[in-house]
Amino acid sequence: MRQTRSVPELVERARKGEARAVARLISLVEDASPLLREVMAGLAPYTGNAQIVGITGAPGVGKSTSTSALVSQLRATGKRVGVLAVDPSSPFSGGALLGDRVRMQEHATDPEVYIRSMASRGHLGGLAWSTPQALRVLDAAGCDVVLVETVGVGQSEVEIAGLADTTLVLLAPGMGDGIQAAKAGILEIGDIYVINKADRDGADQVRRELRNTLALARDAEDENSWHPPIVKTVAQTGQGVDEVVERLDKHRTWLESTGELARRRIGRARDEIESIAVTALRKRWGDVHARTELDVLAEQVAAGETDPYRAADSLLETYTD
Ligand code: GDP
Repeated sequence: MRQTRSVPELVERARKGEARAVARLISLVEDASPLLREVMAGLAPYTGNAQIVGITGAPGVGKSTSTSALVSQLRATGKRVGVLAVDPSSPFSGGALLGDRVRMQEHATDPEVYIRSMASRGHLGGLAWSTPQALRVLDAAGCDVVLVETVGVGQSEVEIAGLADTTLVLLAPGMGDGIQAAKAGILEIGDIYVINKADRDGADQVRRELRNTLALARDAEDENSWHPPIVKTVAQTGQGVDEVVERLDKHRTWLESTGELARRRIGRARDEIESIAVTALRKRWGDVHARTELDVLAEQVAAGETDPYRAADSLLETYTD
């Protein structure tokens, strides 16, 4: 185990924005350190300021280029920015993975930007468990906005939206049938849609298709509904990125004024508590003795001697007191 300074000291240094302390705390999350309980208790009073922005879209659509362009634009407006790249499929420790990516280099020396990638390394509970804790570290470190990007492929695109206050869905021309995106379920989750690579032919067509699809999907709505805007960008040059940042601000204002921010955050906290509780329970019946109990119950259910509900009750009774 790496040398650890006292948790209160680390928390204090992270709160002051010291990059090394922030990195160290995220490593503790990544390692599922037993110190996390103390870390989270120390951070809790200092969280709730950051706007968590999820960035999703098919590989190659321009997510990392856009993330970098967004960082530049947010910095230009004086914001402190965190970037968390989550790789749910990677067994490797993240560390500097994203920082090494060429497009992020320009921000590497900016003390007001924290860039970090994190592998969830097959944690029980995976993303649901570790990402909110890493976000809490960046939040407590005084980030005004934290951009969360998933690296690698998988169904995590939709999952990441559940972790964000605001979800950006990126599309681009030349990525095949626009409706493919709908199949992946990402057309229901966007708060802001970005059509990147607007310098290429077909951007307007993607916009038209998207507009039609969104219009079809729209429920009966009241005047307080959020109408997801569609913004065209060229991430490589930064064109249109200022408008994305304006929309992010507007969305935050909307979230606050309608109470939706609190609703989303309470929903996330519920998921997080549940995930920690279930993980703790699983650990208990994962012991040698407990496994026996679960195995016995499994055999009884398979043999028709009892039913799975009764078996679950019995398991809960044994391990919750
Ligand atoms: P990601 O896989 O979604 O993170 O996509 P990347 O950011 O790695 O971008 C994929 C490719 O698209 C790279 O070669 C980028 O240089 C290129 N790209 C990104 N944004 C734009 C853009 O606005 N216009 C054009 N023409 N190419 C872009």
